Amino acid sequence: MSETVVSIRGLVKKYKEITALDGLSLEIKEGEVFGLLGPNGSGKTTTISCLLSLLEYNSGEIEIFGKPMTPVSYDIKRDIGIIMQNVAVFEELTVFENIDYFCGLYIKDKKTREKYVEEAIEFVGLSDFKKFYPKKLSGGLLRRLNIACGIAHKPKLIILDEPTVAVDPQSRNKILEGIEELNRAGATVIYTSHYMEEVEQICTRIAIMDKGKKIAEGTTAELKKMIKNTETISIEVRELSEDIMKQMSELPHVYKAEQKESKLYIYCSGGKHNLIRVLNVLQEHDISFGRVYSELPSLNDVFLEITGKALRDKEE
Ligand code: ADP
Ligand code: MG
Repeated sequence: MSETVVSIRGLVKKYKEITALDGLSLEIKEGEVFGLLGPNGSGKTTTISCLLSLLEYNSGEIEIFGKPMTPVSYDIKRDIGIIMQNVAVFEELTVFENIDYFCGLYIKDKKTREKYVEEAIEFVGLSDFKKFYPKKLSGGLLRRLNIACGIAHKPKLIILDEPTVAVDPQSRNKILEGIEELNRAGATVIYTSHYMEEVEQICTRIAIMDKGKKIAEGTTAELKKMIKNTETISIEVRELSEDIMKQMSELPHVYKAEQKESKLYIYCSGGKHNLIRVLNVLQEHDISFGRVYSELPSLNDVFLEITGKALRDKEE
């Protein structure tokens, strides 16, 4: 059995009258890429800040590597790499100097440090930008610098708080591949995001958060099994009569049928050939239609079914 790396029990954090964390418990094992998935404001950053003792909390217990975490747990902090949501680098230092500075907080031997800094630069793909100042870097490259600063000292536990927000697809892929590579090399990873696709792609286990609480936890497959939805069919079609909609909703395995913005949505639970039955109804009434999709449940559906609201931000 693998070791517990992080244990959070009954964590409560209030900002004046706002309860940001409401009795959160998490257990993260060695070797995991653990995803904290939740919409903006659900408490992900607050969790990370409390975990690192950067923020005082009202109650709860936090242990890292089997020891209580406190603001002065320097021995624990040495083995943690932290990449915060807001990029934190020195504007007056170059790419190389920034990484060297952060690495130098933990690695005192000059030769070792130089090697580690070079490796980190190589790892995030910034070899051509070593002498650049941060303000000359694109958003994506800046994010990569932020990551290099966090991982250069080769920590055992790496925590990344929304590292891909507002980055170009190329940097995003580089970041996601990098995380998987660090994990293969032995690091345990905690990854927060409100992008379910990313979490689904790289995380071995996921906790879904909402309003400071954990509302579900498991592997992607386990989470999807928790809900009744197994297939969502959507069809571009003109507005259908109430009779036809009633017929749709009475098809076998269909638990909901609705029309939104000139699209028909059919939600199914189990069964095969659901799409064919739906199309047969349209054909029966001689109704022509446009594009047709049949989709398996996503983590968004898991979130939707448990909380009654969408995880995805509409504007993204
Ligand atoms: P997430 O990282 O999931 O977006 P946060 O942990 O940043 O969520 O925020 C959780 C809740 O706490 C939100 O309601 C947010 O408005 C509130 N909050 C976060 N930081 C502060 C703060 N410094 N002062 C007051 N409220 C805060
Ligand atoms: Mg956040």
